[in-house]
Amino acid sequence: MHRADAAARQNAGMATAAAQERCVFCEIVAGQLPASFVYTSDDVVAFLDIRPLTSGHLLVIPRQHAGTLAALDPELGARVYTVAQQLAVQLRRSGFCAGINLFLADGVLAGQEVFHVHLHVIPRYPGDGFGLRAAKRRAQPDRAKLDATAGMVRDRISSPPH
Ligand SMILES: [Zn+2]
Repeated sequence: MHRADAAARQNAGMATAAAQERCVFCEIVAGQLPASFVYTSDDVVAFLDIRPLTSGHLLVIPRQHAGTLAALDPELGARVYTVAQQLAVQLRRSGFCAGINLFLADGVLAGQEVFHVHLHVIPRYPGDGFGLRAAKRRAQPDRAKLDATAGMVRDRISSPPH
């Protein structure tokens, strides 16, 4: 992506955000709210979550506003993931933490609280108490049930990923 294109998209995204409602992440990107940055580039930034699940909990976001995955330019989504991956690899390689979880919430039901797409990079330490929780672990379905579910999913993918 050319810089001019990126800037135009960013401006368009921020104008859209401003027209809709206040977006704290757009305000961070614009320098109107403080954040402790660990990475910045033309299109993606990463900073510390102010309510960390573990020490060093990071948020990686596109500068351009996108409220949901559906609104996010896939090319920019790839950039967000690449930055998160590189941050995670370097944190692990440096011995900062013993493991990493990546997490993204899309939609209120999924736990999304800020409607500007963000990918969590969560460093893991022995005994940190963090984990995924489910009300009930499902029994392992048989192959026929798995295949039926796969068919239902395929039926809903009008444009498969490539
Ligand atoms: Zn925003």
